[in-house]
Amino acid sequence: MKTLAPGSTIGILGGGQLGRMLGVAAAQLGYRCHIYAPNEDSVAAETAAQFTCAQDDDIESLTRFAEGCDVVTFEFENVPVDPLHQIENCAPLHPPIAALDVAQNRIAEKNFARDHGGTTAPFAAVTDRASLDSAIAEIGAPAILKTIRMGYDGKGQSRIKPGDALDAHWEAVAHQPCVAEGFVTFDHEFSVLLVRGQDGEIRFWDTPHNVHEDGILAISTAPAPAEILAQQDAARALAAKMADAMHYVGVLTCEFFATADGPVFNEMAPRVHNSGHWTIEGAITSQFENHIRAICGLPLGDTGLAAKKVEMHNLIGSQADDWQTLLSDGTNGLHLYGKGESRPGRKMGHVTKLHF
Ligand code: AMP
Repeated sequence: MKTLAPGSTIGILGGGQLGRMLGVAAAQLGYRCHIYAPNEDSVAAETAAQFTCAQDDDIESLTRFAEGCDVVTFEFENVPVDPLHQIENCAPLHPPIAALDVAQNRIAEKNFARDHGGTTAPFAAVTDRASLDSAIAEIGAPAILKTIRMGYDGKGQSRIKPGDALDAHWEAVAHQPCVAEGFVTFDHEFSVLLVRGQDGEIRFWDTPHNVHEDGILAISTAPAPAEILAQQDAARALAAKMADAMHYVGVLTCEFFATADGPVFNEMAPRVHNSGHWTIEGAITSQFENHIRAICGLPLGDTGLAAKKVEMHNLIGSQADDWQTLLSDGTNGLHLYGKGESRPGRKMGHVTKLHF
């Protein structure tokens, strides 16, 4: 295990709010961050020491970037994988490419979870219009059609009700290769947040109970209610098994449905995650700091709760316009991501509240 001394440079692929919060945590530990992102208006670049604005498949720029970094990580899992094999020769890359291979493909991801003993929704691959018919005949309706690649926050999805004509759903996913998933009847949603060090040590944060609105996370609360805690051990065991199998280093998030039959794995994010934002104020060590600690080979920090109860509310679209009202309550931990324009569905910030 190689420990990176403060003053070293951490490269981050991706320029959004997750990169921004990782950069703040890295700066606290004395590291410099170099952001690599395709858009000029990167909110991560604003708080970083260096910024390269270039495309994700621009091998020359990626190589120059990696050569100047002591370690490289990513805050966005949909980066093209092939160019990353090249930069692995220039600087260590954590988490590993194997995690991207799994997380970028919803079918590979579900098979990976099943291979490690997890339960998923019933699913069938959809490659063309005819296979959509056979997939729905097989798994039934209601169902959700999700693009195999590049989907997040409910994007690239279409919800199929019993009796629906399927043409419109096939249009809605733009004829992309998809997975058709059976609709899971769940009581709650939750995520397992873990960090795995270079020596294989795993630590879990308290399990957040997540509430989504319109497919986007709205609220995370920790600790979770008893019905979720009853399923926590099984979900954690699966997440840890998958992390070990990938030789994972960094923060890994696995999302689950709590059902009457136990936890059903939905998807994983090989990165810090929105359902862990509460850890900035609500845990002794945040997900961002522990990700930096893990990839830099430092000892992992304590993941315990810093309050009796913590809740995080996302500020989506115009909700962030209320920043003055939110600040007038001095117990609110307000985080604004510095995004210029508040479009509907866009994550603009979040608020954390601790209860003692
Ligand atoms: P995803 O992009 O897969 O995280 O989906 C976004 C949200 O849609 C989830 O957090 C759930 O609230 C809902 N959802 C996704 N897949 C299913 C499913 N198979 N059954 C029921 N609800 C789902």
